[in-house]
Amino acid sequence: MSTGESCPKCSAATISKRAAEPWCPACEWNLDHFEKERRPEFGWRWVDRRLFRTAYWLTERQYAELRDAPTPARAAMAARIATVAVSVVLLALVAALFLTGLWLLTYDFFSPVNLIGALLVLIAVVLRPRLGRLSRLTRDAEQLDRSKAPALFAVIDRVAAAAGTPVPDVVLLSAEFNASTTTVGLRRRRVLTLGAQLWSVLDPQERIALLGHELGHFVNGDIRRSLVTQAAESTLGAVAYLLRPDRRRTRVDGLTGMIVETVIDIVGGLLARFVGLLHLLLVWISRRDSQRAEYLADELSAKVAGSAAAIRLSDVLLLHDAIDTVVRREARAGNSAPAWRTAAEQARAGLVTDVPAFRQLSRRTEASLFASHPPTGLRAGLIAARPAQPAAVVLTEPEQARMDEELAAHYERVRRELAVANW
Ligand SMILES: [Zn+2]
Ligand SMILES: [Zn+2]
Repeated sequence: MSTGESCPKCSAATISKRAAEPWCPACEWNLDHFEKERRPEFGWRWVDRRLFRTAYWLTERQYAELRDAPTPARAAMAARIATVAVSVVLLALVAALFLTGLWLLTYDFFSPVNLIGALLVLIAVVLRPRLGRLSRLTRDAEQLDRSKAPALFAVIDRVAAAAGTPVPDVVLLSAEFNASTTTVGLRRRRVLTLGAQLWSVLDPQERIALLGHELGHFVNGDIRRSLVTQAAESTLGAVAYLLRPDRRRTRVDGLTGMIVETVIDIVGGLLARFVGLLHLLLVWISRRDSQRAEYLADELSAKVAGSAAAIRLSDVLLLHDAIDTVVRREARAGNSAPAWRTAAEQARAGLVTDVPAFRQLSRRTEASLFASHPPTGLRAGLIAARPAQPAAVVLTEPEQARMDEELAAHYERVRRELAVANW
């Protein structure tokens, strides 16, 4: 909505949404405003403002680079190389710790040095890279059976073939308003999770776009990269946790005890802070790389579903709040999935003229050094900036209806979940 004021730079009328600080839709004046209500990331306002400005600048620069590139380059870039290098060094250190521990444990058996060995082995075990487990994912999602959902699996197969990606080994349905891919376990099984709240409100071509995007993460080297970096991030997080001073509260009596404790606290605190900072750096660098991976997955999404559907999907994510509200309302009223899509389509139609403003605003609200995804508005922008692509896979309404019939029991489970949740 217009604010009734004009831009000091180009004198166009400024606009605002959701009580945000006004900005100029024409020249983007004040779009990089640091909102007072922003969720604290570091805790000190001046640091948070700095971090926001840096994130905003990096995000816009990455977008401009990709937009101006003739074809999106798939070659490794500095952020990926740095993340993988740091991760490999970290994992090598944990392995060295483990081997040294084993050596000390068996060296000159039955001597005090064995205890140190045991301690090192124990620390290495705590710090071991985590590969993820399927059982953890199935706590909030149900696994879909190929024989009970043949239409859905057939569509997944078609999208994978058109995109040139492998098919997922496991498909899960959760209640969430999103979708994701990951790999779990030693065998690195590929898992695709579809959030019913999002899946159910999409039109056929938007579903193809969503599948194209998610399966796109199975290529581009995302999985290999995430294997090492996830492991390193979890390891660094565990080190920082172990070193936190408040975790080692063993009262020792006397003056010597007090001095020893103080020294341990100071050294431990410094170490914890250093490791914490290293952890942050690794997270920030790897997030740059993962944002780039999202753009590349969008590229694949446009290739299989057509650019128009990929842009619409991105705008559905942009209007998440409004759609979430009406879907929950329908779920509470006892209405099932077809009613959710109707309600969502009404909400979307009502907001269609606001989409450009929401796209702009997302660049302010979603810019963060911690964000794994680029601002939603920039994702739509990048697809739109490239030559329009036709759909390689076309899904019809009757096919979509068959998919939804297969999932009816699952949707009902999700409906009950959404109806009782009180937000
Ligand atoms: Zn202006
Ligand atoms: Zn993604």
